[in-house]
Order: sequence, then structure tokens, then C-alpha cells
Amino acid sequence: MQIIIFLLMAGLTIFMLAYPLWQGGAAARPAPAPAATLSAGQCATCGRVLEPDERFCPQCGTPVGPRCPQCGRALVGDERFCPGCGAKLEGTR
Ligand SMILES: [Zn+2]
Ligand SMILES: [Zn+2]
Repeated sequence: MQIIIFLLMAGLTIFMLAYPLWQGGAAARPAPAPAATLSAGQCATCGRVLEPDERFCPQCGTPVGPRCPQCGRALVGDERFCPGCGAKLEGTR
């Protein structure tokens, strides 16, 4: 009979010791990182702040695509007006 009590006590002790670790491990699990939000004026590769008229990142050479010459917003390329500021884009390319 004593061995059963011993096993119960041992199991309870292990549980008491492991429970905070288990809780801590669950709490320490890294939350999913929020998607990196790049502003329109940043290189998507290195994050360098780009001038509105820069079409290639001067730091890493990544092409940044067409941009609005007025507000620097990145454009797909077929816009006729800037969705960011409404600037007329025809004739700028
Ligand atoms: Zn870059
Ligand atoms: Zn614009």
C-alpha cells in the first residue's frame, strides 16, 4: 500500500514541478509575427526609404516599379490616376 501512496506523491510532485514549465512554455510560444507593412516609399527587399523618383533601390538594386511622381506610392503600372493622391499619371512614363 505504501508504494501506491509513494507513486501518487511522486506523480503529484512531478506534475507540480512540470505544470509551471508547461504553462510558461505555452505562454512563451511566439505569437505569429504581423505581416511586415512597408510604406509606399520603402524598398521591399531591404526597407530602405526611397525617393519618389527612384525606380531601383540604390542600396540593393531591387526594382521598385513605377511610382507616383507626386506622392511616391507604388503603382502596378496601368493606373491612369494615382490611387493615393489622385495625380494624373498619363504622360509621366
Ligand atoms: Zn533595397
Ligand atoms: Zn500619388
